[in-house]
Amino acid sequence: MAKIIIHLGQCLHFQKGCSRCIDECPMKLLKFDFPPQNGDITIEDEMCIECRNCEVTCSPKVIKVESTE
Ligand code: SF4
Ligand code: SF4
Repeated sequence: MAKIIIHLGQCLHFQKGCSRCIDECPMKLLKFDFPPQNGDITIEDEMCIECRNCEVTCSPKVIKVESTE
C-alpha cells in the first residue's frame, strides 16, 4: 500500500491544466476528480506500484509517494 500526497497549493493542475503525473502513471491511479482546493490531499491506493513516475515528472515537485509498509 502506498500513500500519494499532493500539495495542491502549488500543483499546476487546476490553474494551468498540467496532467503530467496523470499521464505518466502506468496504473492510471491519478484522476484529480475533486474540486480545486488548497492544502494537501492524500490518496491511499493498494494498486500503486511505487514506480515514482509521478514524482519524477512533476516539475514543481508537489507530489510525493510514501510506502505505508
Ligand atoms: S508511484 Fe507510480 S503507480 Fe504510484 S501513483 Fe505514482 S506513477 Fe502511479
Ligand atoms: S505533475 Fe505535479 S503539478 Fe502537474 S498535476 Fe501532477 S502534481 Fe500537479
